Amino acid sequence: MNKRTLLAAIAAFALPLPALAQTAPDVAALREAALEDDLAWEITEGLTTEIGQRLAATEAEARARDWSVKKLTALGFQNVRIEPFTMPVWERGDEEAHVLGASAQKLTIAALGNSGSTGSRGVEGDVVYFASFADLQAAPAGSLKGKIAFISHAMTATQDGSQYGPSGAARRLGPSLAASKGAVATLIRSIGTDHHRNPHTGGTTWAQGVKPTAAAALSLPDAEQLQRLLKRGPVRLKLVVTSEMKGQGRSGNVIAEVPGSDPAAGIVLIACHLDSWDLGTGAIDDASGCGIVTAAAKRVADAGQPRRTIRLLWAGAEEPGVFGGAAYFAAHKSEYHALASESDFGADRIWRVEMRLPESAKAVGDRLVTALTPLGIAKGSGEPDGGADVGAVIRAGTAVVALGQSGLRYFDLHHTPDDTLDKVDPAQLRQNVAAWTTMLAIVANAPETIGPAPAPARR
Ligand code: ZN
Ligand code: ZN
Repeated sequence: MNKRTLLAAIAAFALPLPALAQTAPDVAALREAALEDDLAWEITEGLTTEIGQRLAATEAEARARDWSVKKLTALGFQNVRIEPFTMPVWERGDEEAHVLGASAQKLTIAALGNSGSTGSRGVEGDVVYFASFADLQAAPAGSLKGKIAFISHAMTATQDGSQYGPSGAARRLGPSLAASKGAVATLIRSIGTDHHRNPHTGGTTWAQGVKPTAAAALSLPDAEQLQRLLKRGPVRLKLVVTSEMKGQGRSGNVIAEVPGSDPAAGIVLIACHLDSWDLGTGAIDDASGCGIVTAAAKRVADAGQPRRTIRLLWAGAEEPGVFGGAAYFAAHKSEYHALASESDFGADRIWRVEMRLPESAKAVGDRLVTALTPLGIAKGSGEPDGGADVGAVIRAGTAVVALGQSGLRYFDLHHTPDDTLDKVDPAQLRQNVAAWTTMLAIVANAPETIGPAPAPARR
């Protein structure tokens, strides 16, 4: 470096720095206090201990709604109520998979939500292997007649959980597609990243006109076992899956509010889902989500009446097909939602914030990023995913802030018997509550107009 460029470099450093953006002292104080929060844990512990699993439209989910009403009322929320709706009820039944022949052995499976039944006598069939959902798509019509389809996929753990979308197609759409090509049943490699002998359940959907067949997930070790057997030669399986639909049943959303001082400023809708799958106790999916959003709302409410109404939605029946989110939207679509967001990705720390805000609220977004920085949270540039239960509200044009949680271990536990309270890390949970508290304190009190949001960027 010559003398001139050296001087220029020194001069550049000597230039006055732009004033660092500051977070309002009241918001910063709420953020710091939330780092000591115990309420999110208390709610998560209470729901998972006193109710346990909360399969949609069951007696357990109904007890969970009553528990929630009591809890939210005791915490001082207003307009606490259940908004009931009806939905198709699915029951798990028995689930067994046996390899037949010289390598006869049992494999570990769990039926997928909305699975059909083999009947109690089961079905037998030769296994046809597909390395991916795309390979199944390429299979000719009728080519699976009398066969058992086995769909694998590649999935690794990532911080943003972005592999769930593409890998999850095997579960969400695979069984219906295989059945439409003649398969008598479908097995999938669990949509997960652990190597425990725990299958991951989850919902599957049936296309119009396709008769539901048995559909189940193999644990990852069992999926790999089946692949090794297939490398040695043809494999014939016997499956017994007695899942069935039991007609229409009752579920419901639990709603609670912190009424705002300015009804014209719109509602800030924050959601979680109350139901869970039935294998674990639904601690990370999604009792902790309810704990997080509620602890944040309580702390902001205790600091003084917010400008905007904060509405908590503890949605029913998210897992089998977002029935609660649909019922909420049908009942409330005419109301002015200024912003919507959901916590439904475990209890680990927040690492990223993404948002879609109107131009009028640009400064709100800037304040948010500044206030979240001390928690180690960076601004992302992607399209925010607000969560399934607020999806319809967001698609209708509501602004959204998405607080992205670390997904590094989420899919080790997701929808398995291992989704239990001991997997919740209290320290990460507190950081998460602090991020939600900061976000709520800013958006609920912002003097700017928030929403409707600009159209999403094209993907
Ligand atoms: Zn969930
Ligand atoms: Zn789930």
